Amino acid sequence: MSSHIPLQLEEIKDKIAEAARTCGRDPEEVKLLAVSKTFPVEDVKAAYDAGQRIFGENRVQELEEKTGKLPDDIKWHLIGHLQSNKVRKAVENSALIHSVDSLKLARKIDKVAGECGKKQKILLEINVSGEDSKFGVAVQDEAVKLAEEVAGLENIELLGLMTMAPFGADEDELKEIFASLRHLRERIEEQLKIQLPELSMGMSSDYQAAIEEGATMVRIGTAIFGKRTYA
Ligand SMILES: *Cc1c(COP(=O)(O)O)cnc(C)c1O
Repeated sequence: MSSHIPLQLEEIKDKIAEAARTCGRDPEEVKLLAVSKTFPVEDVKAAYDAGQRIFGENRVQELEEKTGKLPDDIKWHLIGHLQSNKVRKAVENSALIHSVDSLKLARKIDKVAGECGKKQKILLEINVSGEDSKFGVAVQDEAVKLAEEVAGLENIELLGLMTMAPFGADEDELKEIFASLRHLRERIEEQLKIQLPELSMGMSSDYQAAIEEGATMVRIGTAIFGKRTYA
């Protein structure tokens, strides 16, 4: 059953626009990424038919399976941890990879993208909260250094930063985490004299705080597709 999807999609789009206007931002600045992981192709199609064109998956295998069965004008984003042996399939199928967290991985992507004749758009995943359980670059100095090295790679286009807030963080913690990502972006832009237009932050439970702190992409799964049976 996917009949709830168009309605929930409309509802979340309205709420995102409202959250943007509430803090004086243009709703157009906030892109909605529909996170379809674990949901069947029929559900993605229901959202597509309702006008959604950007979808996020966290596993390369699932991403590849879905791209083959759905319209070509969908922009697929990889948002989950990427292992180096899956880089080729990730590059072949992703418009944007949100989860680059090491120079080693970036170099591999650069090499494969070169072989595919593609310039791969990426974000650096930053572990702002310093939580051990999450992937991402931990220390801010390290992040600046990584951004510098990655920005120099020929077949990669570095568009910005991504983070995930820890589960169960309260409103103040969320704002602090999202603001830290924005500050880090400013610091990288100033130090390296580059532009990082995208901040990928905010999920179903915390997108309002993320938008308030400058998110340009929110990654929403549950609020569109419903509860997942596994994470
Ligand atoms: C699953 C996932 C989301 C979406 O989470 P919801 O709470 O279902 O909105 C966002 N970002 C990442 C990296 C995810 O893995």
